[in-house]
Amino acid sequence: MHFLITGGAGFIGTALANRLVQMGHHVRVIDDLSAGDPSRLDPRVVFSRGDVRDVPRLWNLLQGVDCVYHLAAKVSVPESVLYPREYNEVNVGGTVALMVAARDVGVKRVILASSGAVYGEQSQQPVNEDQRPNPQSPYAVSKLASEYYVNTLGALYGIETVILRIFNAYGPGQYLSFHRPPVIPQFMKKAVEGGTLVIYGDGNQTRDFVYIDDVVDALVAAATANDVNRAIINVGSGEETSINDLAKKVAKVVGKEVEVIHNRAESGGVSRLVADLSRAQKLLGYRPKVTLMEGLRRLLELDPRFRVS
Ligand code: NAD
Repeated sequence: MHFLITGGAGFIGTALANRLVQMGHHVRVIDDLSAGDPSRLDPRVVFSRGDVRDVPRLWNLLQGVDCVYHLAAKVSVPESVLYPREYNEVNVGGTVALMVAARDVGVKRVILASSGAVYGEQSQQPVNEDQRPNPQSPYAVSKLASEYYVNTLGALYGIETVILRIFNAYGPGQYLSFHRPPVIPQFMKKAVEGGTLVIYGDGNQTRDFVYIDDVVDALVAAATANDVNRAIINVGSGEETSINDLAKKVAKVVGKEVEVIHNRAESGGVSRLVADLSRAQKLLGYRPKVTLMEGLRRLLELDPRFRVS
């Protein structure tokens, strides 16, 4: 098949692009490199630097493409609180531009990388896709708006669409932004350098950490699955882990004594979040294979930034 991946030089996009070319597919990537790094892409991937909102550029890149993965987005929750307009412009504007270009060219299927963040605080855990979203940041709102645009424009334009709500993905190559990077690479870096792990809130908040290979399995399955049109599907590990427990696991994997402090002045975010994977299993045949301990071990082994000195 022929694929276009927007944001394909990012953490998830690179892993997906490399898997698809290894499977023998043709893959193009568009990425503005605001966060991505094309050097980790397999040389068989055709890379194009550009903005996902550039519709004429998309017309060219979409020629002959069967399926698009839309991953291009700004991805930091705390940054989105500071810059909601940028998050709206890139994440929502980029999604609308992509759908319009996909209509113009006649693309068959669009798969959106949405987020478990759209759920926000929910009393019922694990969360399933029928629960009412409760977004609590501009980032989460931009992802939920993108879901509605993808499914609504898909129905109006006759494009098949699939929404994957990815929970907290982690693995080699995840972008370590300066401003509050994702918790796993942040803890890993501090632990190998002998620094202090800072936990926001009391650390009892839970998350669903899903290893990149499992996320890619779900993305790949979504390209060819039947009966998924307009479906919204959770992609997580189904394993609920508190941030305090994560800190202990990171220390164990790194094999060092690690100092941990709590910054209770800062919010730790929603109190619990773990994915119900029944729909992913039914529609995509998805079963996560990598436990958190195994994923942390692989991260340490495979990501050169986390070499223990
Ligand atoms: P990432 O930042 O590594 O990848 C996003 C990529 O999009 C980057 O390479 C960036 O340069 C590119 N990009 C940003 N703005 C662009 C624009 N205007 N035009 C073209 N490219 C642009 O993040 P990631 O973790 O790989 O996330 C990929 C997607 O998956 C995002 O849509 C994100 O919201 C979603 N997602 C990620 C997670 C996670 O835990 N990593 C969880 C849920 C959803």
